[in-house]
Amino acid sequence: MTSKEIRQQFLEFFKSKEHQVVESAPMVIKDDPTLMFTNAGMNQFKDLFLGNAAVKYPRIVDTQKCLRVSGKHNDLEEVGVDTYHHTMFEMLGNWSFGNYFKKEAIEWAWELLTEVYQMDKDSLYVTVFGGDEGDQLGEDTEAYDIWKSIIEEDRIIKASKKDNFWEMGDVGPCGPCSEIHVDIRSKEEKAKVAGKTLVNEDHPQVVEIWNLVFMEFNRMADGSLVKLPNQHVDTGMGFERLCMALQGKQSNYDTDVFMPLITKIASISGVEYTATQEKKDIAIRVIADHIRAISFAIADGQLPSNTGAGYVIRRILRRAVRYGYSFLNLKEPFLNQLVEVLVNQMGEQFAELKSQQKLITQVIFEEENTFLRTLEKGIQRFEEYTSTLNGKIIDGKFAFELYDTFGFPIDLTHLMGSEAGLEVDMNEFQAALEKQKTRSRKATKIDAGDWEIVTEDEVEEFIGYDYTEAEVSITRYRKLTAKGKELYQLVFNMTPFYPEGGGQVGDTGKISANGKDYFITNTKKENNLIVHYTDQLPENVNLKFQAVVNQKKRILAENNHSATHLMHHALRTVLGEHVEQKGSLVNADYLRFDFSHFHKVTDEEIKQIETIVNQNIRENIQLDERRAIPINEAKEMGAMALFGEKYGDVVRLIKFGDSIELCGGTHVSSTARIGQFKIVSESAVAAGVRRIEAITAEKADQYLDNKLALLDAVNEALKHPKDVLQSITALQRQNSELQKQVEEFKRAAAGNVKGELKGKVQNIGGINAIVEEVDLDAGSIKDLAFQLKAEIENLFMVLASNVDGKVTLTILVAEELVKSHDLHAGNMVRDLAKEIGGGGGGQPFFATAGGKNPNGITSALEKAKAYLK
Ligand code: ATP
Ligand code: MG
Repeated sequence: MTSKEIRQQFLEFFKSKEHQVVESAPMVIKDDPTLMFTNAGMNQFKDLFLGNAAVKYPRIVDTQKCLRVSGKHNDLEEVGVDTYHHTMFEMLGNWSFGNYFKKEAIEWAWELLTEVYQMDKDSLYVTVFGGDEGDQLGEDTEAYDIWKSIIEEDRIIKASKKDNFWEMGDVGPCGPCSEIHVDIRSKEEKAKVAGKTLVNEDHPQVVEIWNLVFMEFNRMADGSLVKLPNQHVDTGMGFERLCMALQGKQSNYDTDVFMPLITKIASISGVEYTATQEKKDIAIRVIADHIRAISFAIADGQLPSNTGAGYVIRRILRRAVRYGYSFLNLKEPFLNQLVEVLVNQMGEQFAELKSQQKLITQVIFEEENTFLRTLEKGIQRFEEYTSTLNGKIIDGKFAFELYDTFGFPIDLTHLMGSEAGLEVDMNEFQAALEKQKTRSRKATKIDAGDWEIVTEDEVEEFIGYDYTEAEVSITRYRKLTAKGKELYQLVFNMTPFYPEGGGQVGDTGKISANGKDYFITNTKKENNLIVHYTDQLPENVNLKFQAVVNQKKRILAENNHSATHLMHHALRTVLGEHVEQKGSLVNADYLRFDFSHFHKVTDEEIKQIETIVNQNIRENIQLDERRAIPINEAKEMGAMALFGEKYGDVVRLIKFGDSIELCGGTHVSSTARIGQFKIVSESAVAAGVRRIEAITAEKADQYLDNKLALLDAVNEALKHPKDVLQSITALQRQNSELQKQVEEFKRAAAGNVKGELKGKVQNIGGINAIVEEVDLDAGSIKDLAFQLKAEIENLFMVLASNVDGKVTLTILVAEELVKSHDLHAGNMVRDLAKEIGGGGGGQPFFATAGGKNPNGITSALEKAKAYLK
């Protein structure tokens, strides 16, 4: 069975059990501060479990893109070393939201595995939760009894909390689970050692494939467990592991999910893949794994960067490059060549990969290139360091510098060290690393308390499309501590405040009760809750509050948001259909829009885009808002849907003429209110991604006013010529001619002075001395000094000059004199400089000084003459 068929059968099976098939949520998470990446199928349903959102389908089935490289679930170090952990993997899942529970979940899992997939029953083992004293939970006898009616009792294992109590993170929904493990060893091996003894022992051939979680609790910030309002089922089956078992392979990498990638890596590197534990094979597996994580993240809109989720992706990419570099001798960009293979394989199920193939390839290529150059610099630095090293120990601080500035992971430093017979001081390295970690943890730590529930009101409603004021009550609140500062998050029964989203900033404003105002400093979405930030918690949270949005800011942001839509459409008209949104920021001051495009946008194109948008503004196009239409209908209307966004099956559609977008933001009711649109900058953000910043309304007026005022000032300064530009060009021409003349005059003057000085040479005891004041600038004096030095032997020359109060002294001593008379121009000039109120220095044969006191010139020259004597 091919992996495609295996995936399809899973979805079909649960469809036949009345489950709704839904698409994978994005792998990159945008509205949950506790999680950067989806690490399990249940993430997108968290609020359904917690009862924060309404359940639409009580049964769901899907395949979810997951990434486990940070936080509570981090498998990075296992990847490639073992055969069954990946960074990015697909988790197949069936879900019950307050609908069926343990019995159906267990029975259907068994039916699918043994009847549909026809797995050998004798190769399967199951585990159930065995209880935990800390959480005061008994063993899961219910699950045990259900299993007992299906399989022999000695195939059921009671397991500890570590293995059989599933938690998403430090807080959140959780519950006991029951896992299914498969033994893929040969008959002979099975006869020697009982499979049961290998379950949960990290044996590579006795692995967990499916976890059935029975969600019953919410883990609070203080560690306690609170029972959820309803009981749910959350199952997760590792798709790649399932393929391994069903395709009769010994490793996930041997399945058709990975083999095409592995074959390609082998052909690029010329290294044969032999599926061993050799470094080279590990490297091939790591690369085959990482390219998936990187490509899927970019397809979801997460470009590699220096912070947050972008940094995690950059690190995975660099890790892959480095494995290729160190173990497969790949010194040129190669990862980008794998994108095509991946797209051919998975582009059908995950359309976002296919549609963005070019961008993904280009972004990866640029990243690889940059990192390879940094690696080279690091290697140079390493060689410089080791060439001056006494002893055999590489300083841990130095290893940390390589790690920190050149992205050298410590094992690469190890490897290079051992090749040179050196060892790394690991203690010192670890200490430096720890220090950095603590520093960054301190800088970013936000502590959230648990929600205090004020009323068990229904789910909060957003009324901000129609109202900017309303009477609201607080349904829950909690305290946050960030960087030592305390603030509060409030949730209302309904709210006119727009929560940050779709690039548009969150509303600010205030809520008031009993004559007292509390300022709302920001509004954000956390999963399905709209949270309002305030520095001060109302003394009485049970009051009714009058909520008022800061209208001025909201209106300006709306202008910019609607202008963004018009511009997006204009970009596609002028530049082409490959333009896709890659990022957007809309606030009261300006709009910023990142999009895929592979060249600089020319001035002419910018002009065209501005013209189109300004025409649209003047046409005064009415907003056509469809607040809740089925997503398919929206797509049929030609709405631009963004990959990497989480949409429900009904969406909001915003239409201004030909611009049709899915969008949750707030907009102008007709375009004329935008007034004016002006692009102020165009630049590159990353390979294949450009950024435009633009302004509208008053800001655009101000911008143009300033430009005009500047032009007026120029006109004024030029005394109102007929043609300003011509007048400036004429001035420039005139200026450069004058410059040339000045140079000529200077040269002539220096020539004259030279003649004069030659006539003033005094021979004092075999030394040809010139001590004079001249009327030349410093540059000319230096030229002159070197000319005279070439023409007069045994020259001792001291020249002083005064150009507009800037006094200089120049001393030149022939090299013969430096030796024979032990003279030093630098020392002398320092001494003479005191007379002119300044300082200087230089070499034994040539030195200069500058000062501010012209009256000192005479005494300085007198002093110079004294030296001669
Ligand atoms: P393991 O103990 O093997 O790491 P887990 O207990 O972390 O697994 P769950 O969190 O229960 O796994 O995830 C559900 C299923 O997802 C697992 O049964 C497994 O099949 C699969 N899975 C988990 N982690 C990975 C991974 N890193 N790569 C591939 N599949 C995975
Ligand atoms: Mg795990």
